[in-house]
Amino acid sequence: MPTSKGSRALTLSTPLQYTKGVGPARAGAFARKGIVTLQDALYYFPRRYEDRRRLCQPQDLATLPEGIQVTVLARIERSREIPLRGRKQSLFELMVMGEKGDLLVCTWFHVFKGMKEKLVPGQWAIFQGALKKYRGAPQIVHPDVEVLQAKPDTNTMTSPVSLHWGRVVPIYSRSEKLSQKFIRETLFSCLETGLPLLRDLLPAPLREKYSLPGLAESLREMHFPQEMPRLEATTTDTLPPPVRRLIFEEFFKFQLVLLMDRAGIQPEPALPLRIKGRVAQTLRSAIPYKLTQAQERAIAEILGDLQKPEAMNRIVQGDVGSGKTLVALFTAAEVVENGFQVALMAPTEILAEQHFLTAQKIFAESGVDVALLTGSLPKAKKEEMQARIASGKAALVIGTHALIQEAVNWHKLSLVIVDEQHRFGVRQRVALKEKAVPGTFPHILTMTATPIPRSLALTVFGELDVSTIDELPPGRQDIATKVIRGGDRHKLYNLIRKEAADKKQSYIVYPLVSNSDKEGMEKIRSVEMEFERLQAEALAGLRLGMVHGQMPAEERTRIMRAFKDHEYDVLISTTVIEVGVDVPNATVIAVENAERFGLSQLHQLRGRVGRGAHKSYCVLVTDTPPPGVLPAQSENAEEGVLDESPWVRLMVLEKTRSGFEIAEHDLKIRGPGDFFGTKQSGSPSFQLADLSRDAQLLEVARQEAQEIFRRDPKLELPEHQELRKWFDLTLDEAAVTLKSG
Ligand code: ADP
Ligand code: MG
Repeated sequence: MPTSKGSRALTLSTPLQYTKGVGPARAGAFARKGIVTLQDALYYFPRRYEDRRRLCQPQDLATLPEGIQVTVLARIERSREIPLRGRKQSLFELMVMGEKGDLLVCTWFHVFKGMKEKLVPGQWAIFQGALKKYRGAPQIVHPDVEVLQAKPDTNTMTSPVSLHWGRVVPIYSRSEKLSQKFIRETLFSCLETGLPLLRDLLPAPLREKYSLPGLAESLREMHFPQEMPRLEATTTDTLPPPVRRLIFEEFFKFQLVLLMDRAGIQPEPALPLRIKGRVAQTLRSAIPYKLTQAQERAIAEILGDLQKPEAMNRIVQGDVGSGKTLVALFTAAEVVENGFQVALMAPTEILAEQHFLTAQKIFAESGVDVALLTGSLPKAKKEEMQARIASGKAALVIGTHALIQEAVNWHKLSLVIVDEQHRFGVRQRVALKEKAVPGTFPHILTMTATPIPRSLALTVFGELDVSTIDELPPGRQDIATKVIRGGDRHKLYNLIRKEAADKKQSYIVYPLVSNSDKEGMEKIRSVEMEFERLQAEALAGLRLGMVHGQMPAEERTRIMRAFKDHEYDVLISTTVIEVGVDVPNATVIAVENAERFGLSQLHQLRGRVGRGAHKSYCVLVTDTPPPGVLPAQSENAEEGVLDESPWVRLMVLEKTRSGFEIAEHDLKIRGPGDFFGTKQSGSPSFQLADLSRDAQLLEVARQEAQEIFRRDPKLELPEHQELRKWFDLTLDEAAVTLKSG
């Protein structure tokens, strides 16, 4: 059915390009900032505000210091064009006067089209820009100008007549294609269109109880506030009410998603174990070291759960290298000794294979049938494996998530171990039910190397059981970590050469596979391009391997294995090596464009080295400005707003090796999304909240969410209808992402 632009019903999920005044090109520029729909735009908040309510007159300027932003109301007296010798362009100069005859000079270094027609003597206009003094006289270079129909009466002016002056003006995060003026105007029309469509999902009684303003009002105030907002508040209470309300909403939605998720984890009947310990004993004699106390404690906690006739739901969090694999295998040992089956799932085939090799080794004397099932097995082999699993012969089965997704039939599945994941989502649990012995539910053990920040732990885990491995095996080497700029790359290459001469290996990690298909990513380095370059130049003579996620799985596995066997000195790769890969002979890891990664992810990558007895290094390369070097002021300071240098963020890794501390930093900067693996619909979560400031509000939101859930678990009451709708949407979209390399 043909639809015309006019007949399209506007909703909050309407793409921006269909709203008034935004064409496809500008919609594209917004999209690159992650703003696609009307809803996205409404939640695209200003970085700061400028108070432009006070208009200056030219006579005020004499006493003001240079460099400050001024908004001047004045009348154009005369203009002149000054040809510049030897240049095509002319200089354009405007003399403007205030009521008292004082002069302000406005200067442009070229004449824009239509300028001379627009800026004619006698006209009143607003001039906005950074104040300069030229030979003692006030001057603005390249000001923003808004020509007025008539001189406004500044004394009686109550409601602002412009978006750009005479009011508190929002300043958004900078973008090359989008001017502040344009963003502001777009946001204004988005508010006009979008606010009537908004439904406030915070129930009215709740808003009253905590004096929270309505959603529409809050969003309007966020973008075009009446008063200059005090955002530097150090307590939640002193924040402007609209901000407080939006933070409350972020927390409240977040808590509801958690509650909803937990509602799916009511205790289910499971096959209880009897602890025997014979298989575990063979494991103990197969490993050349003692388990750490933290490992022993985690194993004991897990085995405690498994003896109950109720399905376990436990997460083991332990820093990278803390020895979670052994905890998993010791647990599996008891389960198989009881005659049940265990599925151990890794996020990638490489990792599954590595776990399989480890398991095979330490179960060698136990008589336990350990099997590997991956997608890349030949068909016949795969069918044979499936038969072994269906008959119950294979007791410990290692693979990827395909183990519970595909047509694998289990004989007596009792424990599912999920490696390198924070959570096991609703849908995955549903899938599990079909794999279990009828009438029972498998025990679930998830293992994560990204510790959950302490400030989130209560909120995130709630009733979930947690084991924490807070101790590294003894004898671990320090990993010297350094942030360097691109110009110092030769030092990195020297280090790699030195280590290679000493028979050690290195990784270099890049954010992209290739540069070809990514517009605007020219400055970002890619595996394919750098592999060629390093091979030919900086690392010529060394044996270089390359691995990335777009390769066929067998190829990837082959190269990883070759690296493990020291057939390469250097592995050029994407983050496919992130999780769990264990090559004790590797001593250097470098990450290019390090600013593009989360701190926890970098910490994970760093964990690829320092696994043997050798001194190791982690080098983070970035071309973002080092601390102390301020971004250059542009002509128009308003456009010069740059984000704080990511360098400062990277330096956290130089200072600490504690995954917990690093996770706290990540949480502050990136929000909790990373700790959940879910993409929540609606607002971008925790855009405004700061957990160190707003922890109390989080707790309040948690209690209120629980209260609503207790009173109205299905959200059937009339005052919960907007919540219900939002919920259904979230359920649809919150398909928990399975991490895959
Ligand atoms: P992660 O917790 O990151 O998954 P792994 O299970 O891969 O860590 O263990 C990291 C390395 O530490 C492996 O080489 C493993 O053999 C070794 N390891 C595990 N436990 C101990 C221990 N108790 N003592 C010494 N080395 C250990
Ligand atoms: Mg691991």
